[in-house]
Amino acid sequence: MSEVILKGIPAAPGIAIGPAHVFGHEDLSVESHPITEGQVPLEISRFEDALIQTRQEIIALQKKIAQEMGVEHGEVFDAHLLVLEDRTLIEEVISRVKKDRLAVDFIFNEVLQHYASVFARIEDEYLKERISDINDVGRRILRNLLGRKRTVLADLDYQAVIVAHDLSPSDTASMHKNRVMAFVTDIGGKTSHTAIMAKSLEIPAVVGLESGTAQIKNGDPLIVDGSSGFVIVAPDPETLKRYEIQEEKIRGISQVLTTLKDLPAETRDGTRVVISANIEFPDEVASVLQHGADGVGLYRTEYFYMNRKDLPTEDEQYAAYKQLADSFKERHVIIRTLDLGGDKFVSSFQFPKEMSPFMGWRAIRFCLARPDIFKMQLRALLRASVHGNLKIMFPMISGIDEMRQAKALVEESKGELQRKNIPFNTQIEVGAMIEVPSAALTSDVLAKESAFFSIGTNDLIQYALAVDRTNEKIAYLYEPTHPGVLRLVKDVIEAGHRAGIRVGMCGEMVSEPEIALLLLGMGLDEFSMPSVSILEIKNVIRSVTRDQVRGIAEEALTLTTGLQVDDFLKRKLREILPDIYGQQP
Ligand code: PEP
Ligand code: MG
Repeated sequence: MSEVILKGIPAAPGIAIGPAHVFGHEDLSVESHPITEGQVPLEISRFEDALIQTRQEIIALQKKIAQEMGVEHGEVFDAHLLVLEDRTLIEEVISRVKKDRLAVDFIFNEVLQHYASVFARIEDEYLKERISDINDVGRRILRNLLGRKRTVLADLDYQAVIVAHDLSPSDTASMHKNRVMAFVTDIGGKTSHTAIMAKSLEIPAVVGLESGTAQIKNGDPLIVDGSSGFVIVAPDPETLKRYEIQEEKIRGISQVLTTLKDLPAETRDGTRVVISANIEFPDEVASVLQHGADGVGLYRTEYFYMNRKDLPTEDEQYAAYKQLADSFKERHVIIRTLDLGGDKFVSSFQFPKEMSPFMGWRAIRFCLARPDIFKMQLRALLRASVHGNLKIMFPMISGIDEMRQAKALVEESKGELQRKNIPFNTQIEVGAMIEVPSAALTSDVLAKESAFFSIGTNDLIQYALAVDRTNEKIAYLYEPTHPGVLRLVKDVIEAGHRAGIRVGMCGEMVSEPEIALLLLGMGLDEFSMPSVSILEIKNVIRSVTRDQVRGIAEEALTLTTGLQVDDFLKRKLREILPDIYGQQP
């Protein structure tokens, strides 16, 4: 077998070399078996036993995940438990067993397939989420009816690279970090749940590989490069050698980098910047501190609203924000208010179907239309602000009117607390995310009424270049170094500084080491990124002088294509840190 190179979307950094474990192709086909009338009660009780057994399995898994990874991760399974209580489904199975006189496994499978096909025809994000819940639970029930043991990732008893079409939240959540060396999936994007989990578990991952499961067989030797998105099947001895060297090098580098944990993110000539973490779950605190972050530059609160059937109450949110404030003490935690819509949907709120959800009713637009939901979050946040250094940030601000309306609701929420004598930090900073081109172009106006900016380039790039950030077919056009994007970023930093406010960035591009050089040269104040990237970027910052990066930024801004800028920055990075970036496989 000769070497095959596949290219997907890099989802979590790192290199893994190991055998493939193709996951998820289990044969649960069932034959139809006639039964006698006397056997009907037996079949029904087999079905009921399978439901009870499945329920116990799910509760045990939920408990295990909640203990190991935090309660929020376990809440995924609440939706699964709800499927088990679906009376329509259960009654349809029982009545068909009685009517058709066929064994229950066959009937159940038919009813399940019918349900899934009905849901699949409806184009609705919420219902799509429900299909994977129904399939997940359905397969569990079927396995129990057939007396089969499930091949769960938690049972994997050797070290392997998981290859799957897709991984459900329960699959990723039950992964054993010591045995799952990496994972690759056919579908998914950089911002999918799977990619987020991979980053927080620190397992290398490549998603959107399209034909991975078709081309990779169980046991095939694999190399996964989660930083570049390459997956190499049956690598040649030379390729293997190059990656083994690279893997060893990465291991050595990360050991050296841990020595930077308690050192400041400061250039060789003493310019200090802030390096902070992006988090999705409050229980990421330990990892954030372990990677030496100065604080949290972006807490994406919408994950708090996901995988649950109701909206979180004010008290629940208060408890989560307080926990963060307590853990980080004087270090800052920027809490981004709800950013639902676009590609982020929740079960507890039915969003209308839209032609262009990324340009539709999302984020601050949704919050301003639903002040009841928005103010519940704002009050929780204000209440928690007395326990630490919390700041409020609004997503998707497109102009000063929205900023003023959102701030007015903060004032209203403050008034409500004041009337009840509930304390809050009256001086709490309120900032804007700059992720819409119109906000970048009017950043001088916004700066006068914002305590700080954080540039959200994940969205800014897609809107500036008209490139859907989740579409792998046009991923080649999604260029962080496009001169159009760089000019917007530069304008925002300058407008912020003219008004005397801090400008940070929390989009993914800030964690690319070569781009960090450019941003440092442009004068960016805060670099906020997934915890795994913090030490690497701190090292880049500590290796340069201010004049050096200013020169790099000036030259980069004279170049006319994204590719030229990218090549130029990578060359500079290799010159500055040849030991680390000198040779790539
Ligand atoms: C961004 O758009 O850059 C950002 C950080 O927010 P999100 O990825 O959650 O949209
Ligand atoms: Mg965004």
